[in-house]
Amino acid sequence: MIYDTIIIGGGPASCAAAVYVARKKMSTRLITVDFGGQSINSNDIDNWLGEVHLTGAELAEKFETHVKAQEDNLEIQESTKVTDVSKEDGEAYPIFTVKTDKEETYRAKTVIVGAGAERRRLGIPGEDEYDGRGVSFCATCDAPVFKDKDVVVVGGGNAGLEAAIDLAPYASSIRLVERTDSLNGDPATADQLREKENFEGFMFNATLTEIRGETMVSGVSYENLETGETGDLDVQGVFVEIGSVPNSGIVEDLVEINELNEVVINHKYASTSQPGIYAAGDITDDRFKQNNISAGDGVRAALSAYHYIQDLEKKS
Ligand SMILES: Cc1cc2nc3c(=O)[nH]c(=O)nc-3n(C[C@H](O)[C@H](O)[C@H](O)COP(=O)(O)OP(=O)(O)OC[C@H]3O[C@@H](n4cnc5c(N)ncnc54)[C@H](O)[C@@H]3O)c2cc1C
Repeated sequence: MIYDTIIIGGGPASCAAAVYVARKKMSTRLITVDFGGQSINSNDIDNWLGEVHLTGAELAEKFETHVKAQEDNLEIQESTKVTDVSKEDGEAYPIFTVKTDKEETYRAKTVIVGAGAERRRLGIPGEDEYDGRGVSFCATCDAPVFKDKDVVVVGGGNAGLEAAIDLAPYASSIRLVERTDSLNGDPATADQLREKENFEGFMFNATLTEIRGETMVSGVSYENLETGETGDLDVQGVFVEIGSVPNSGIVEDLVEINELNEVVINHKYASTSQPGIYAAGDITDDRFKQNNISAGDGVRAALSAYHYIQDLEKKS
């Protein structure tokens, strides 16, 4: 079988695309690790249109319900990771082969890539070893576990500032390490953090070089990037909030990717440099990364894929 489209992912971009292609009655398979996307662990989503407030888990459930309501026109495969997308030669139009970690292969005339992004890691000794044992990538999820602990947050953007604020009701002390000489986050959020009694201050021009411990984290080493001065901090928690990396590896040999590993798209059509491959949401070079934007991009990709298929049918 050759599907009209295969959608990769279960975040807002892919779920919006799925609802639209199903209503166009395109033969579709959606393959995803899970439903919800990156904001699933957030306690406060206050900007999803039509909902004054909801949690990430509630939003994820709404996505899943809406997508599964299309099941008459949509094959859904969960708990599955796409490992590669490639193009077959020798056809009148390209056919794409999608491989999964279940050793399956599916074929489609178009692919909508909504695989989003994952947290960027520091890449220093101890980070992997103590992941979940003092190293965390989600303050919203883990803050209560750090009651009466000394913690360090890495990253001076909004994510880092908000993580530090989330930790304030629990941790005994919080420091924030930023590798440049200033914050990238909103000044109002920084002011909110400065007001917290247990906030011990920003460490500018600094980076962590090692995370140490025994069964759990017990300390970190840092370096001042300006002076070269090094030092140690006794902390039991390290929160890494240094941005995200697009999951673009699965299409890197097929489409243009920029220096940030984002898929470059034509923003009018959500099309990529490879005809038949569309991309939407945080995986793309869109400047803003938001749920509403990703959903809108997913709709654009779905409608573009639909028109592409219509044009193929007219030609054949
Ligand atoms: C903590 C946090 C809070 C946030 N809060 C907000 C907020 O309040 N408001 C807001 O608008 N935005 C918020 N965002 C940003 C928002 O979550 C993202 O912009 C949005 O989720 C991007 O959607 P996406 O569909 O492009 O990708 P993602 O949300 O990254 O979803 C990608 C999906 O693809 C799946 N996937 C990945 N790789 C593969 C693969 N190889 N094979 C199959 N499936 C795969 C993943 O499992 C996931 O289901 C927040 C982000 C974070 C991290």
